[in-house]
Amino acid sequence: ARADGGDRCRFYDPASDLDPTPSDQGLIAEIRGGLEQGRFNMRYQPIVALSSRQVVGYEALMRWRHPVRGEVPPTEFIAAAEKSGLIHALGDFALIQSCLDAATWPPALQVSVNMSVVELLESDAPRRIMAALAGAEMAPHRLRIEITETARIPDLGRLRTAIDEIRTLGVTVALDDFGTGHSSLTHLQSLSFDCLKIDHRFVQDLATPRTASMIRMLVAYARQIGVMVVAEGVETEAQATQLAQMGCTHAQGWLFGRPMLATELPGWQLAS
Ligand code: C2E
Ligand code: MG
Ligand code: MG
Ligand code: MG
Repeated sequence: ARADGGDRCRFYDPASDLDPTPSDQGLIAEIRGGLEQGRFNMRYQPIVALSSRQVVGYEALMRWRHPVRGEVPPTEFIAAAEKSGLIHALGDFALIQSCLDAATWPPALQVSVNMSVVELLESDAPRRIMAALAGAEMAPHRLRIEITETARIPDLGRLRTAIDEIRTLGVTVALDDFGTGHSSLTHLQSLSFDCLKIDHRFVQDLATPRTASMIRMLVAYARQIGVMVVAEGVETEAQATQLAQMGCTHAQGWLFGRPMLATELPGWQLAS
């Protein structure tokens, strides 16, 4: 990858970081086996309105129940899945399972499903999303797709088309992990998002005045362009209070609730 400055350098030749390394190969074989054995499942983490602390929906987060390693987080397998094409099978599982689970919740609640740019660009994402909604008989506005860039975007025009097609279905779209290396202001400005998720690293650094100023600026910008803001990784009351004062309307994090199994949700209530 090129190291020279400027955003353009991220729109790269896809050969570089999408090729599996030898050490990925074993993991890829294990993921394939795990899929065949039904070892993947979804957890759901509440997203709340900061003013009322009411749950407005849940983010679906994938887990792998590994026979030896126990519960494996997606950070340890999504990248390898993307390099192997298995991401499409995993992505379909996430979409279908999340819609089926959300269809049993009160209809005011949304479900947010993560999709990487690789998934959006390499498959017919709008059709797969429509099929998952139809299979669960769920209204499209109850689904939000969170887009994460795990790699640089080879074709911004195609990504724009995919996002626009998804929004045409009535599904909302969020820019995930805002503020990390790959998720930039350029994307917020040039693509159509309904929601912006501020990365947990910023939230954890709120005590730093510069970080606080930047979040305040982002929240104001998002409000002006009609984009809802969700702060991620909120762990303390102090963070929640500060974010609310900055005009941030929604949040998610261990303060409000951990990612839970679908079966745990009916009995779960916010402790407050
Ligand atoms: P993300 O979409 O940004 O999800 C938020 C991550 O923050 C989750 O990690 C969640 O468990 C964690 N988190 C929640 N609250 C807190 C908190 O208060 N403090 C801290 N430190 N962390 C918190 P997780 O579940 O390990 O997922 C990691 C990433 O994997 C996700 O980041 C998302 O990009 C990706 N991912 C998860 N599920 C899927 C999926 O079904 N498909 C795809 N393509 N990617 C997925
Ligand atoms: Mg997410
Ligand atoms: Mg995130
Ligand atoms: Mg993330």
